[in-house]
Amino acid sequence: MTAKILDGAALAQELRAEFKLRAEALAAQGARPGLAVILVGEDPASQVYVRNKVNACAQAGFHSEKIVLPADATAEALLAKIAALNADPAIHGILVQLPLHKHIDADAVLEAISPEKDVDGFHAENIGALTQGNPRFIPCTPHGVMKLLEKGEVSLQGKEAVIIGRSNIVGKPMALLLLAAGATVTICHSKTADLGFHTRRADILVAAIGKPRFVSGDMIKPGAVVIDVGINRVPEGQPDAGKLCGDVDFASAKEVASAITPVPGGVGPMTIAMLLANTLLAAERVAARQG
Ligand code: NDP
Repeated sequence: MTAKILDGAALAQELRAEFKLRAEALAAQGARPGLAVILVGEDPASQVYVRNKVNACAQAGFHSEKIVLPADATAEALLAKIAALNADPAIHGILVQLPLHKHIDADAVLEAISPEKDVDGFHAENIGALTQGNPRFIPCTPHGVMKLLEKGEVSLQGKEAVIIGRSNIVGKPMALLLLAAGATVTICHSKTADLGFHTRRADILVAAIGKPRFVSGDMIKPGAVVIDVGINRVPEGQPDAGKLCGDVDFASAKEVASAITPVPGGVGPMTIAMLLANTLLAAERVAARQG
């Protein structure tokens, strides 16, 4: 069997064209959607992610601001910046690129963002709303995964969904969304006993681990749908060393799965598309309130 490719790059492009039209409609009312992205320090991977997000905004006709603070910026400086953006009517979405340096309390920073502008969906109030099944903003990566599953016409009701990874930004919200869609959900992590037992019974397997090519074909149930969230570099000594790869060993997995997301070109572009979707939603809500 060779799996069908769930093409996130193509779907993201389709969605971004639609978002552009909606952004133009808002701009015509004087309410162009605006996103502010804050980067603290010079982590190379974070710089790439921030650049991609800001470029995607520009292409979709959004207003965007990139704010770069030095690596040794104080928590107070960061919180002051967030307070100013919370009060700025040209900004509908605020995103602080994670991870932050250890000297800054990331939870306090996320809580400082106005829940109405929390387009990452990481504020405790928004996570609570998601948990109750009434989300204000759905976190971008799991939201992108759900859109890919929808586009691929993957039925979820009554299916066994297994997620590897329990982070607040991917694993946990992913579990909530799959649960809401009627799947029976298992979350695995580094302490899980017999990971393969769980992965091999998954109809839908989501890998969000951060370990290159960790999930091999023999860990996958024949015919399963495999979602690879991981973004890693292929380690030295392996073919394609230095290139991007996922948490799934694509070559062996695609022979067993019925559908699979590639890396790059799968979940990554969908994450950015969903960030635009949330920013647009935030701007549309403000415009609707203002009549
Ligand atoms: P975290 O490091 O926060 O979480 C990783 C999770 O994997 C943890 O829950 C950890 O378990 C679990 N884990 C680690 N080792 C094992 C193991 N041997 N067996 C089972 N579980 C294990 O990562 P993130 O959730 O932030 O990101 C995961 C991956 O997704 C990364 O590659 C990241 O780059 C990528 N990513 C991609 C995005 C995209 O747009 N495509 C967006 C966000 C992330 P424990 O909790 O016990 O430590």
